[in-house]
Amino acid sequence: MAIIRVALDVPVDCLFDYLAPDANLTDIGLRVRVPFGSRQMLGIIMSVCEATQVTHEKLKYAGQIYRDTLPLPPALLELFRFCNHYYHHPIGQVVMNSLPALLRQSRQATEQAIKQPVQSLEWVLTDAGKAITVSDIPAKSVAKRRLLTFLQENEKVTAEDLKQMTAHTRKLLQTFEILGWVKKQVAIISEAHPTKASAPTPTPEQAHAISAILAETSMFVPWLLQGITGSGKTEVYLQIAASLLAQQKQILILVPEINLTPQLETVFKKRFPATPLISLHSGLTDRERLQGWLQAQRGKTGIILGTRLAIFTPLLNLGLIIVDEEQDHSFKQQDGLRYSARDLAIYRAKQADIPIILGSATPSLESYHHALTGRYRLLRLHSRAVSGASLPEIHCIDLRLTKMTREGLSEPLLTALQHALSHKQQSLVFINRRGYAPVLLCKSCSWTATCTRCSSRLVIHLQDRQLRCHYCGHQQPISPACPQCGDQDILPFGQGTQRVESALYHHFPEARILRVDRDSIRRRHTWRSVLEAVHNREVDILVGTQLLAKGHDFPNLALVCVLNADASLYSTDFRAEEQLFAQLIQVAGRAGRADTPGTVLIQTEFPQHPLYRALLKQDYDAHARLLLQERKSAGFPPFICQAVLRAEAATIADALEFLNQATEAAATSEQIAHIQLFDPVPAHMVRLKGRERAQLLVQSHSRKYLQTFLSNWYKYLTSLPARGKVRWHLDVDPLTL
Ligand code: ADP
Ligand code: ZN
Ligand code: ZN
Repeated sequence: MAIIRVALDVPVDCLFDYLAPDANLTDIGLRVRVPFGSRQMLGIIMSVCEATQVTHEKLKYAGQIYRDTLPLPPALLELFRFCNHYYHHPIGQVVMNSLPALLRQSRQATEQAIKQPVQSLEWVLTDAGKAITVSDIPAKSVAKRRLLTFLQENEKVTAEDLKQMTAHTRKLLQTFEILGWVKKQVAIISEAHPTKASAPTPTPEQAHAISAILAETSMFVPWLLQGITGSGKTEVYLQIAASLLAQQKQILILVPEINLTPQLETVFKKRFPATPLISLHSGLTDRERLQGWLQAQRGKTGIILGTRLAIFTPLLNLGLIIVDEEQDHSFKQQDGLRYSARDLAIYRAKQADIPIILGSATPSLESYHHALTGRYRLLRLHSRAVSGASLPEIHCIDLRLTKMTREGLSEPLLTALQHALSHKQQSLVFINRRGYAPVLLCKSCSWTATCTRCSSRLVIHLQDRQLRCHYCGHQQPISPACPQCGDQDILPFGQGTQRVESALYHHFPEARILRVDRDSIRRRHTWRSVLEAVHNREVDILVGTQLLAKGHDFPNLALVCVLNADASLYSTDFRAEEQLFAQLIQVAGRAGRADTPGTVLIQTEFPQHPLYRALLKQDYDAHARLLLQERKSAGFPPFICQAVLRAEAATIADALEFLNQATEAAATSEQIAHIQLFDPVPAHMVRLKGRERAQLLVQSHSRKYLQTFLSNWYKYLTSLPARGKVRWHLDVDPLTL
C-alpha cells in the first residue's frame, strides 16, 4: 500500500509518513489532511513510496488528498529541499510558510473562482526524449514504445490526447517525466493583442544589452545589468520580456519593496496589455494572494511581479527572472526561513536553465565580485536614456564651515531650497530617520529616554505627544520633567523627518510640503496618491526617508538634499558603507531625470571621506573596488562564507551559556580545521522586546565545509533537550552581525 511522506508546519526537521491507499505518483506536490497528535493538520505530499521506517502500529491513515489544485511542480519541491539544506530550517516549515495562507488550511482551495486546471497542461518531448531510439526499448514494452513513438511524431501529449489514453499509458507518461524524457508545461492560449504602449528606440547601450541577453535565452546565464540611475534598465527588461512572452514564457520579476510594485506594474501593463500579470506581495489580502498564485501556477499569467516571497511561486513555463535593485537588503528574509530571494533566484534560474538579470546602479559587492571574476556576465549602461538628461551634480556642504539652524539645516541648503522654490522646481529632503527627534535629553543630568524592553532610545513623535520605540513599538507620553533629576529642561536632540518638516514650514510658509515615511504611508493607496501628487506638481518639497529613495521616477525633481548621512559612516557593521553609498547614489538619482538638470547637496562633517569623494565623481566602480580590497584584507564576505548562530533568553547569561555549549560541540567537529569559530558575544543591540541576545559567528573559505559543518551542528543543536528559556536560530549568509 502506498505511503505518502508529508511536509507539515512543525518545528521538527523531518517528513511524516502516512498510509494512503489511493495515492499515486501524480499526487506528489498535492495538499493532504493528516492526523497529527490529537489534531488534524494540512501538509504537502513530498513523495510517495512503498516502504517506511515507521512501525505498523504507529502508522496512521492520511485523510483527504486535495486534488482541486495542480500539484506543486517538482522544481519547486526541489527548491524547498534546497532551502531546507542550505538554510538549515525544518523542511515542513519551509514548504508550508511559502504557501498562500488559504492553501495552508484544510479546505478546498476556494475553487469557485479557480477552475479547470488540468486541461491546460501538456507534456513536451525534451531533448533527452528526442535522443531515445524506439528500437532500444525492449520489444515487449509495447506501451512504452507506442507512447514514445507518439511523442516523437507529435512532439507533445496535450490534455486532449491524455483523455484518450489508458491509465497505464498515463502512468508511463509520469515515468517518462521522471526519466526526463518529457516536460510538463502549461499550454498558453494566446489572446488577441489590443493596442499597447509603443516601445522607444533603445539607446545603443540598451540595444547592446538586449541583444546580448536575447542571444542566449535557452540556457542559464546570470547577467549583472549595471546601469546608472535613469539609464533605462526597465526598458531593457521590457524588450527582453517582449521577446520571451512571444515565446509563451513566463517572466518573474522581483522587486525589493511593496511600494515599487505599483509603478512597475503600470509600466508592464501598458506595454503588454494582453498579457495577464499578477502582483504578489505582502500587502495583498489572503484571497488576492491565493488567486494570483493559482493563476501563476496554471500558467494563466505571463508576468509575475512581486517581492521576495514571490520567489516561491510555482511556474511551469518560466523563461526569465529579473531581480531589480538586486543589492537591496529587503531581499533577505530576517526571520523564520532566513533566505535571500536573490540567491534563490539564481538557484531557480539555474534549475530552469534560463537567463536571470540582476539589475542595479550600485550592485552588491557580492554580485559585483562575481561579475569581476567572470561568474556573472556584466552589462553596462553608462548614460541616461532620455536624451538631454544628465547625471546630477553632487556637492558636499562642509558643516564645519557653515552655520546651521537648530533643526540641522545649513544656510547653503536653505538658499538652494529657496532658489528651487522660486523657479517652481521640486525638491527632496532626505533624512533616514522618522519621528521628530531620536533622543529626548535632560540638559542637567544627561538622562535620555530609553525603552525598558530594548537597548534603544525612544524616538519623539511630537504630533502625538508620544515617545516611541522603533524596535518593539512600545510607546509612552512625553514626560514634562526629567524622571531622574526633576528638571523641566528636557529637550529633543537630533533630527527626524517630522522635525525637518516643521522647520521647513517655518522657513517656507508658502511651500507645499509633503512628508513621506512609514508613519505617513500606511497603505499602498496613500503611496499611489503621493506619486500622483508629485507627478502633478502639487508638491514643492518632499521630506522623506529611504522609502522615497528607491526606484521612483520624479521627472520634475531638481534638488535633493541629504541630511545626517554621516551617521552610518563609522558604523560597526562592515556593510554600512556599501549600503550608504548605494542609498546616496539612489537618492541622488532621483534628481534631474528629464529635462530638469539636478543638484544634490550632502551635509557632512567629513567631506574628505573616501565615500563622499567617490560619490562626487559618481564613480561606483572605484569605490566598489576599494571596498572589495578592504573586505579581502579583512577577510569579510564575499571572500569568506559566514553563518551566525543567534540565541535569545530572558538574561544574556542564559543566551551566552547556550552558545558556549554550542561552541564546545563545534570544537569537536570533523570539519573544524576548515572552520573559523568566533567567541560568543552579546548582540550589538542586546535587549530587544524584553529578551537578551547573543551571537556566535562561524566562517569558512569553503562553502562545502561550512555547509557540512552546519548540518552536523544543526543536528546536534536540535537534539539538545528543549530549553524553554533559550530560543535560537542559524542565519546563513547573514546581512547584519
Ligand atoms: P533606471 O531604472 O535605469 O533608473 P528607468 O528605467 O526608470 O531607469 O528609465 C529612466 C527614464 O528613461 C524613464 O522615464 C524611461 O521611460 C526613459 N527611457 C528609457 N529608455 C528610453 C529610450 N530608449 N528612449 C527614451 N526614453 C527612455
Ligand atoms: Zn535630569
Ligand atoms: Zn523597545
